[in-house]
Amino acid sequence: MRLGVATVLADSAFRHPDRTAVVEGELRLTYRELWDEAVAFAGRLTAAGVRPGDRVALLLGNTADFPRAYYAVAAAGAVVVPVHALLVADEVAYVLRHSAAVAVVSGGALRPVAEEAARAVGVPVLECGAEPGTGAANGVGPIPDAAPPVGGPRDDGRSGGLTAAHRVRPSAAHGIRPSTAPGDLAAVLYTSGTTGRPKGAMLTHLNIVLNATVVARDLLDLRPDDVVLGCLPLFHSYGQTCAMNAAFRAGATLVLTPRFTGTGALDLLVRERVTVFMGVPTMYHALVEAADADGGRPAALRAAVSGGAALPVPLLERFEEVFGTPVLEGYGLTETSPVVTFNQPGARRAGTVGREIWGVAAAIADPAVENEVRLLPDGESGEIVLRGHPVFAGYLDDPEATAATLVDGWLRTGDIGVRDPDGLLRVVDRKKELIIRGGYNVYPREVEEVLARHPAVGQVAVLGVPDDVRGEEVAVVVVRGAGAEVSAEELVGWARERLGRHKYPRLVRFRAELPLGPTGKVLKRDLLKLF
Ligand code: ATP
Repeated sequence: MRLGVATVLADSAFRHPDRTAVVEGELRLTYRELWDEAVAFAGRLTAAGVRPGDRVALLLGNTADFPRAYYAVAAAGAVVVPVHALLVADEVAYVLRHSAAVAVVSGGALRPVAEEAARAVGVPVLECGAEPGTGAANGVGPIPDAAPPVGGPRDDGRSGGLTAAHRVRPSAAHGIRPSTAPGDLAAVLYTSGTTGRPKGAMLTHLNIVLNATVVARDLLDLRPDDVVLGCLPLFHSYGQTCAMNAAFRAGATLVLTPRFTGTGALDLLVRERVTVFMGVPTMYHALVEAADADGGRPAALRAAVSGGAALPVPLLERFEEVFGTPVLEGYGLTETSPVVTFNQPGARRAGTVGREIWGVAAAIADPAVENEVRLLPDGESGEIVLRGHPVFAGYLDDPEATAATLVDGWLRTGDIGVRDPDGLLRVVDRKKELIIRGGYNVYPREVEEVLARHPAVGQVAVLGVPDDVRGEEVAVVVVRGAGAEVSAEELVGWARERLGRHKYPRLVRFRAELPLGPTGKVLKRDLLKLF
């Protein structure tokens, strides 16, 4: 079998058939069971008319259905399109149309949204429950024949006109397409569309399998007896590659939780004897608060991975103190499969995102030069640009966005960074979040770091708000720590003592919590209306 996403699961099913692959509440599936179910569902997809190269959307929560469907689509030679689980039907329909998906796999609470979207587009909804035939024949229409291929021509001769109910039937293990070539498309992952319509990032089998392999082997040394807690949404590349694909690559156990809460995650860490936690900074914050209130400690935890957004150093230090486990921060983007740099155990430094992983080169470019990548000398800050195997194949049907992102053989990240003299990379901030106050640049992250050090501050988000005189003003939204008191004047004074005159925030708002996206990132645009 050649390298392909399906081989990630197939290989572990071959090596460790009786080890537990997935835990979801009371449900435990061994590698053999999960692979058999994926194979059976691949057969049903093929029987339903799915052909190699077709796109199949998944609208699924963090349940065992996700890996079942994900590896089934891959095993059928099709391209998986995981859809953001919080989208409304119109938004889902946009993704279905844009990706020319031939079917949607859904179930549970998300099924009504999937059905409404699928009806609008005229594709069937398929269910992939463990029992063949359960609900799988509830298609809402025929699989259209006109979907254009992604990344190459598709087989001809598909049967047209049948309803999904005719096509989808329990079927044995036929339909497996082990002929996937590494450069073929494996997945299209849609960005959240914070700037305009969502874009579909095209990832190849090579992108995903290599990234999962590097995470599993080089970065974390995952073993079959590791237990990985996957609270990250599986539709997002961080959860998909770093938690799910990396855990399965190593034959480890993946513990799934449908919704993240600090206490729920702490409970799982202890009960399932989790050895590796993967999360975003807001999850670290919630876990520390839960541990402070509860006192339970996950004795088996040996590593914690943070990514997706900057992890404030005080929070990293607090987590390490409370849990007695090193926090390893990495950096990546959906467009880079996602991991490109990582703080490896033994060579890490808090506040940096570490060094490039094997096969990746990072450099710093002039952010103001649009049409070419003009590299800056090490030590200067500028836009982080990347090269290597994790770099995606472009945005689906969006040559303009692709051309703006893949420039001169580099991927432009839109992140501002700087390389320390010892080679470690720092992410200073996002280019688009830069605040320009009276002509001076202010990076929110620097201000956030200073405020996060105030003992009464729990969480903090700094943003630029429009200002008639200075263009933008530095504003901050603060969540006080549990039981803590602090006034706006005190916080402004704290920041003024520690930051230049153009940087300290003049506007302060307090909130009980910060609005978070599905991957736990603070939605700063939703905070603008507070000012
Ligand atoms: P979208 O493109 O969907 O609107 P997004 O820009 O957050 O959302 P993702 O691919 O989810 O897209 O996240 C990638 C971004 O997350 C990076 O470009 C970077 O800004 C940020 N990021 C990831 N890891 C880190 C980190 N360790 N430190 C700072 N920023 C990080």
